[in-house]
Amino acid sequence: MTERNVVTEVVAKSLCCGCGVCTAVCRGKALEMRFNTLGELVPVLTGKCAHCQLCLKVCPALEVGEPLLPEELFGPGAKMGRDPHIGGFIECCVGYSSRHRMKSASGGMATWTLEQLFQKDKINAAICVGRSPKNDRLFEPVIVSSAAELSYCSSSRYYPVEFSSVLKDVLRNEGRYAIVALPCAVTAIRKAQRAVLLLRERIRYVFALACGHGVSKHFTGFLLAAARLTEAKVKMVDFRYSARSHKATNFAFRAQHAEGNWSNLLYFDGLYGALWTGRFFVPRACDFCDDLFAPLADATFMDAWLPEYTGDVHGTSIVVARHPEVSRLMQGAKESGAFLRPITIARVRQSQSGALAYKTTYLPLRVARAERNGLRIPRSFPRAVVPGGLKERLAKIKHGARARICRLAFDLEGRPRRLWISVLAAYLHAQRAWRAARRRVARL
Ligand SMILES: Cc1cc2nc3c(=O)[nH]c(=O)nc-3n(C[C@H](O)[C@H](O)[C@H](O)COP(=O)(O)OP(=O)(O)OC[C@H]3O[C@@H](n4cnc5c(N)ncnc54)[C@H](O)[C@@H]3O)c2cc1C
Ligand code: SF4
Ligand code: SF4
Ligand code: SF4
Repeated sequence: MTERNVVTEVVAKSLCCGCGVCTAVCRGKALEMRFNTLGELVPVLTGKCAHCQLCLKVCPALEVGEPLLPEELFGPGAKMGRDPHIGGFIECCVGYSSRHRMKSASGGMATWTLEQLFQKDKINAAICVGRSPKNDRLFEPVIVSSAAELSYCSSSRYYPVEFSSVLKDVLRNEGRYAIVALPCAVTAIRKAQRAVLLLRERIRYVFALACGHGVSKHFTGFLLAAARLTEAKVKMVDFRYSARSHKATNFAFRAQHAEGNWSNLLYFDGLYGALWTGRFFVPRACDFCDDLFAPLADATFMDAWLPEYTGDVHGTSIVVARHPEVSRLMQGAKESGAFLRPITIARVRQSQSGALAYKTTYLPLRVARAERNGLRIPRSFPRAVVPGGLKERLAKIKHGARARICRLAFDLEGRPRRLWISVLAAYLHAQRAWRAARRRVARL
């Protein structure tokens, strides 16, 4: 019998986002999550596959397997608005938690919500991302069992994280869990909750961070190399350091040496942002992902990238609440130190206009090309008809070429790799300077 599992159907086609949910539920304990040469986490077959196909049912990259839907989760009585991109929502708010925002990525609302759920005894464990004790990675999802521990896990980790170990722990240990994940992992968890009753019973809240795209661990490797450090030599990495003199959009990357001192800051308006927005180190799965707002999550948290909020360097969050309990928390937020006001769904979409354009305008082109090459790409939303036009075709070609150059070079070792990093850094600086010069000329 031909073996069909996620390794043959997803990893072999470069469609894996590295969530690790397949590995957690694998009945034959045949899978293990490991880094590939591109610095992306993928499942590898380390045991004997029992051909149960459960991994295929939970994988977000495949259309087999139904996720639990919000209607089923919140009951038919739940009154929800609808948006073609954001999905269902009870209410949307913008604001911050004054106690959390200094350590958080944006306004600290994700950490505040988890804290509230602990304090109201709705959960007794939260799964969020903390420092990993493993040698091959800096961060991984961890289980925290009190509100006081949440602060170790706040802020965004632009780093691959997978949920296989924590979900195995959830299956072993009774509890009322909340989990924070990126939209692809939220879909996988919702699918797993349909297939595995224990996950449905124990995971009470699934929260999402909006996601423009993920990055491989080489993204961090590159930034560390630019700061003359290596993963082995760092104690902590901060992807969202906010300096008082800068706008919220111009946050910085910094790393703490093993001896305790911090590296120089790499600001988003320099190499850091050029790498991020240039989509270097973006896994191929993200090229096919149209899920920005995680409609299957109980709430989605994101940055308020709107002109009226970006001036506040401490950060501001937008929260899309879908679970009635989260909506209740938002209503009583002021008494618990969070300052929120309603925001329209159109403004929520606007706050993510760049990522949304990428995921909606260029996606059909990438999908069409992949499907011409025999790949079947899952659709989480109905998409527009494939747009044509030279500009979009050129964008597609540029994107493919960049990804290839980047990946090829990461197969290099030692000196050639260091040389490539210098060349790429020089190229990115030149590209930024060229864009800035063009903007100046356009303003004349
Ligand atoms: C790869 C990535 C891409 C993103 N893209 C966008 C985007 O395009 N637009 C946008 O508005 N926001 C994006 N975000 C989310 C944004 O960076 C903030 O996380 C979000 O605004 C929540 O901020 P907060 O202050 O409310 O959260 P905090 O209070 O800082 O809490 C963040 C929570 O998320 C958890 N977490 C951190 N990193 C990860 C991770 N990699 N996977 C799962 N959980 C994690 C933390 O452990 C913590 O519990 C992205 C985040 C990531 C990790
Ligand atoms: S088919 Fe079943 S046993 Fe095989 S890898 Fe998938 S989940 Fe594991
Ligand atoms: S996307 Fe997630 S579930 Fe699918 S193969 Fe990759 S790790 Fe497994
Ligand atoms: S873009 Fe999609 S596939 Fe990539 S990390 Fe974000 S949610 Fe996952």
